Amino acid sequence: MRGRLSLFVRVFAFAGALLCGCRRGGEVPASSSPAPASVPPSILLVTLDTTRADAIGPEARGVETPAFDALARRGVRFRQAYATVPETLPSHSSMMTGLYPAGHGVHENGRFLGPALPVVAERLRGAGYRTAAFVSSFALARRFGLARGFDVYDDEPEAGRAERSARETTARALADLRANAKGPRFLWVHYYDPHAPYAPPEPFATRYAKAPYLGEVAAMDEQLGILVAEFERSGGPTAVLVAGDHGEGLGEHGESRHGDLLYQGTMHVPLLLTGPGVAAGVVETPVSTRHVFHTILDFAGLGAADSLRAPQAEVVLGEAMKPFLEYGWQPQVMAVEGRIKAIQAGRMEAYDVVADPGETRDLAVSSEPPRPLRTALRDYPVPAPAAAGTPATLDEEARRKLASLGYVGGGAAPVIRKDAPRPADMTGLFDVLERASDLFVREDYARAIPLLEQIRAQDPYNLDAVLRLATAHSALGHEAPAAQAFAKAAEIAPGSPDVRVYLALHYARGKEWPRAAPLLEEALAESPQRLPVLEALARVRERQGRPGEAADLWQRVYALRSPTTAEAVRLGELAMSAERTPLAIESFERARAAQGPAFAHDLELGVLYLDARRLTEARDALDRVPASHPAYAMALFKRAQASVLLNEPDQAERIAAARRQADAVTRPLIERERLFAGR
Ligand SMILES: [Zn+2]
Repeated sequence: MRGRLSLFVRVFAFAGALLCGCRRGGEVPASSSPAPASVPPSILLVTLDTTRADAIGPEARGVETPAFDALARRGVRFRQAYATVPETLPSHSSMMTGLYPAGHGVHENGRFLGPALPVVAERLRGAGYRTAAFVSSFALARRFGLARGFDVYDDEPEAGRAERSARETTARALADLRANAKGPRFLWVHYYDPHAPYAPPEPFATRYAKAPYLGEVAAMDEQLGILVAEFERSGGPTAVLVAGDHGEGLGEHGESRHGDLLYQGTMHVPLLLTGPGVAAGVVETPVSTRHVFHTILDFAGLGAADSLRAPQAEVVLGEAMKPFLEYGWQPQVMAVEGRIKAIQAGRMEAYDVVADPGETRDLAVSSEPPRPLRTALRDYPVPAPAAAGTPATLDEEARRKLASLGYVGGGAAPVIRKDAPRPADMTGLFDVLERASDLFVREDYARAIPLLEQIRAQDPYNLDAVLRLATAHSALGHEAPAAQAFAKAAEIAPGSPDVRVYLALHYARGKEWPRAAPLLEEALAESPQRLPVLEALARVRERQGRPGEAADLWQRVYALRSPTTAEAVRLGELAMSAERTPLAIESFERARAAQGPAFAHDLELGVLYLDARRLTEARDALDRVPASHPAYAMALFKRAQASVLLNEPDQAERIAAARRQADAVTRPLIERERLFAGR
């Protein structure tokens, strides 16, 4: 608690210094002071995933984006807008909170935006806006914390898919727009199309056959046009903001996608706004997309501070901490002022991004970057890996979905060391890391192993890769290489709780319960909600014949994720053998509700209801047991008991039937049954 508090104090003190020290009043603003609109406008925010600044708009090369261009002609376009992080969830978290990641705590995908910070949707809803969001990627699913404040948060692609097209998302947003005509609205629509793989729909696939990434942008732009037109027709004054969440490397500086480096391809993004008080124009002042938050509040009449309607010069910051938080490589921070951008990543780099947008001439080689940039980089708070935000609770399917989108996170805490490699020097591993992670979470261990070996060879301190290598060998029954990799992991990260966890899972896999159990218990004491550990310990307790403890652990698992039907049945059986009747009933009822007529455990349910003296439910459950059931004799015996307790007129016949069809198990029970005495 104390650690977190001091981090926040530092962040806010830092932000304060930034505002006071680095502002330059009087630079050319986009418009004269905007007059407040008498009626609050409806506000549309469109975020464009993976969209480079040079891939959209009037200055884009090799692509036509008429919808964006039309907005740019009547609005303000920012030629130097920057994402806060080149990854989807942290970048959007900044737009929703107005904060850099050090303030909102989300440095990577797969984390959780905590409930404490005010988000823009909450503020607008509080001011009478109807709020709705339509997002196109699992990376922004409700579980990651951005849904707060939205009356509608539509994050559902078709079952089993992790993303949906702009066409699908637009259709859903427009349906909602038509169905809810009244009052000012805040609508956020997120398009994901330009994210890899690049597979634009026709006619864009043909038109951009040689540049499918740009084809995706063009297809998305068409949907942007449809969305904006309908939104502006829907009544009342309107404001529109369009912002990229990050770009795409496309091979520049060795990065094909995004998330690992801080160069212009991924950090420089499109940004424009139209609306009341916004005169058409172009702004050269560097701005951060985090001010989307302030600008929306300004449009809604909730305060004009830091609004992009009157942009102020400031040092614009950005970070790419994924390689640091996942592999322990150098943390990366950038700062932009005017036309100079400085990057601190193991060493300092600086570029004139206006004259040299490809960042080919490092000015820091010959002279120090300006002091405000150096100060901002020096003071930027680097997150401690252990405290870098709350991981969202991810089940296996969620991990697979995130991995299918190219996100590697969720592994072991890294080994931090001063001589760690610079991400810019490790570009040859970016794709390997991504492919290895995807194969690993899909449990394709045989194909993951050579990639993990390659990572280990080039980055021997990559704890996550070494542990995954050990686990892959362990899962395939390769005892010797597994043991060797575990030894290596313990050597590079002595005392790491992650090493203990993976080793414990390895022992559990090898059915070495006495060695696995204490390690798992230790790990659970450190992080009580760690799903794989809870599951492994529950399984160990089952195998050790301790059903009560197993049932307790499974209950903790299912508080974090839903059980499958088979798992609900299994918990019912465990609870039954631990004589935990209420839990057993609840579990079997859950399975029955899911399975309907296919449910095959009415006998257990009947016995449990009888034990709980829920007699009519016992009768009904036992009546559902088919004569073909292997323990039908038991069903007849229990049914006769229920009959007597219910004082049914046919109880004598039921006892007779139970006696007639008794087997070796029920015969002695019937003879001893006092309810049947003398009948
Ligand atoms: Zn994104």
